Amino acid sequence: MKSETDNPSPASNEARIAEWVRPEIRALDAYHVPPATGLIKLDAMENPYTWPPELVEQWLDVLRTVPLNRYPDPTAAALSERLRTAMGVPEGAALLLGNGSDELIQMVLMTLAGPGRTVLAPEPSFVMYKMIARWLGMEYVGVPLGEDFSLDRRAMLEAIERHAPAVVFLAYPNNPTGDLFAAEDVWAIVEAAPGVVVVDEAYHAFAEHSFMDRLADSENLLVMRTLSKVGLAGLRLGVLAGADAWVREFDKTRLPYNIGVLTQASAEFALRHQDLLDRQAATIRADRERLAAALAELPGLQVYPSRANFILFRTPAGRAEEIFAGLKRGGVLIKQLHGANPMLRDCLRVTVGTPEENAAFLETLRRLL
Ligand SMILES: *Cc1c(COP(=O)(O)O)cnc(C)c1O
Repeated sequence: MKSETDNPSPASNEARIAEWVRPEIRALDAYHVPPATGLIKLDAMENPYTWPPELVEQWLDVLRTVPLNRYPDPTAAALSERLRTAMGVPEGAALLLGNGSDELIQMVLMTLAGPGRTVLAPEPSFVMYKMIARWLGMEYVGVPLGEDFSLDRRAMLEAIERHAPAVVFLAYPNNPTGDLFAAEDVWAIVEAAPGVVVVDEAYHAFAEHSFMDRLADSENLLVMRTLSKVGLAGLRLGVLAGADAWVREFDKTRLPYNIGVLTQASAEFALRHQDLLDRQAATIRADRERLAAALAELPGLQVYPSRANFILFRTPAGRAEEIFAGLKRGGVLIKQLHGANPMLRDCLRVTVGTPEENAAFLETLRRLL
């Protein structure tokens, strides 16, 4: 015989969820990835280029030898060695690998989370700093950037003084604004922070500026990189470099075997062909300059300087949503930022694609303006 509990009514389950799911999770929206089927995809800072067929064949030969029945090397020793060389990690620094840099942000915050612990970042910046802080019940303090999207050094230092954050995140270059912060401002924050400072260099390949070689100068500085923006977004591999004493603590929150055998073998293979990744990044940097110049020629747009593989621009007042929708109807998906933060009013963000994709984007946009 059926009882009430075998088949709970939707209403009672709703009450159960309201009772048990933590209020800070209830208040969140899940990270939304818009469908892109059939569209020119310029929304997510992916590298548009793939590998030549003979390289794909060599990669498949490597994958054939990977023992799928065995757990991965938990230390990813061979891959770590490659990464150290490829990223110029200084001798004394330790490495931690994550399933994307998102997972590294999560490990750092799980290590530091606790009642009253604060995460601090400038705003607007990468949304995962705030989102993961919320998951873990941490306080989050966002310090507005200046009007020109530079760091407001005084405001940052005051907020650090007032909130004593466990961690400060600085995306360098910043997403979604695109430019590098002034290195002196970053360093002033590293020196003032009572906890750690994570300099997130997701766009390093397009910026050609780094704090990696400053790791020896500060024990509370950590530098984070990812392979996602250089052509390996599908693999999910992030790297955190910093003082061994910190990395050992973060490593305790790592799920065993977080980097799968296919990712380890594929990333190691890709880094053996780093010249190809470097050439693709150089192409994207050159095309970024062409795209920025072409955007600046269109009527009514304000184009922000970029050292990344995307460009932020401001549309004429009140038109961002309509232009975004028009682009999408025209087959081009970019990122709509209007409404995400008051400072991003009327703003859209476009990823640098192939020359053909960039041209299609520009032509569609020109018709809409
Ligand atoms: C894209 C991005 C990341 C996320 O990288 P994954 O390694 O793909 O998780 C991290 N930080 C910033 C600033 C980004 O824009």
